[in-house]
Formats: sequence, structure tokens, C-alpha cells
Amino acid sequence: MQVRRYKARVLQDVTTPGPVRLRRMGPGVVVGVNMTKIAIYPGSFDPVTYGHLDIVKRALKIFDKVIVAVAHNAEKEPLFDVPERVELLRRSLKGLKRAEVDDFEGLVVNYVKRKKANVVIRGLRMISDFEYEFQMALTNRKLCSSVETIFMMPSESYSYLSSKLIKEAAALGANIKAFVPVFVAKAVKEKLG
Ligand code: ADP
Repeated sequence: MQVRRYKARVLQDVTTPGPVRLRRMGPGVVVGVNMTKIAIYPGSFDPVTYGHLDIVKRALKIFDKVIVAVAHNAEKEPLFDVPERVELLRRSLKGLKRAEVDDFEGLVVNYVKRKKANVVIRGLRMISDFEYEFQMALTNRKLCSSVETIFMMPSESYSYLSSKLIKEAAALGANIKAFVPVFVAKAVKEKLG
């Protein structure tokens, strides 16, 4: 019996950290396929709340990397501009090494593909979220069939939280420290004057 020895050549870029599976593509050709599971969590995050952070932590149990992506065009009159929202998210996620913060313009599915991911994470609080989220997930699937949307439920203690409500409550003088990190509460207070 003839024994053949193949010298492995890794053809694909495997510099991104994460599990790599070696696949033999033919005589002498071994391809390293990066198996890092990346999820994109897009939204306005104006500002980030404990509800959002709860979803990121849950997603990190399933995915190797979660990219929290602030959309440029999601809300017409935001309280915080995109760099401010990114900064508040970065501070909130400090210590979660596998969570990244970024911002993007245009279609979510295009951003997902650019990041070499194929999963979008969305949070589902109440049944009232469902209709809009369902429409968006199906539209995204139509635009790009390889992108899947995964819905995650927050802890019930955050299921009533929304950035909008927090801003309204703060504008009326409420203390919002139970809903957002301290520095976010401070930033909201400063913005509202
Ligand atoms: P949008 O992207 O619709 O502007 P947000 O930026 O407020 O909404 O939220 C981004 C994502 O996080 C959405 O999927 C939203 O449903 C989810 N989300 C917002 N608040 C919470 C919460 N308290 N618990 C769980 N998910 C939430």
C-alpha cells in the first residue's frame, strides 16, 4: 500500500482568534476555516440600558464574539449622537472581553456580511415588540437569506425597560439609576440640562 504524505498549506486567513477547523480540500491542500461564531446586535442604544446589557451577556453565552452595532439612521432625533452612544456602550461593556462596540450606516444585512457574521441578535421584551421585529427579521431574510435573526428575552426585571421611557422619565425629573449604569444616568441628566 502506498502511503502519501501531504504537506499542509493553510490557504485561508486564520489570523482572527477563535476555533479553526482544518479541512482537506485536495492533495496537499488544507484549508483552515475560522469557526468563530460572531453575532451582531444592532440598534439605536440611545442610550444603553440594563436591558441591552442583559441581552449582550446572554448572547455571549452562545457566541464567541458579540458586536454591538450602533445604527446611524435608526432614530431621527436622538438624545446622544453616535460617538456618544458608542462611548457609553464601551464603558458599559468594559470587562466583557468578547463584546465589541461599533457603528454602521446602511442596511444591517450588509454590515453583517462585512463583519463575516451571519447572525443578528434582537431583544424581545413584550409581545408588543413582536410585530415590528418579525417584519424586520423577514425583510432582512429576504434581502439576505444567509443571515439569521435570533431573538433573546431579557430577565423579567428588564422586560419593561426602554431607552425612550427612560429619557421621558428623566426629563420629568425621575432618578434613572435603577435602569442604566451610573455614568449613563449622569450623561442623560447633563444632556437634559
Ligand atoms: P431599536 O433598534 O428598535 O431602535 P433599541 O436600540 O432601543 O431599539 O434596542 C435595540 C435592541 O435591543 C432591540 O432588539 C430591542 O428590542 C432590544 N431591547 C431594547 N430594550 C430592551 C430590554 N429592556 N430588554 C431586552 N431587549 C431590549
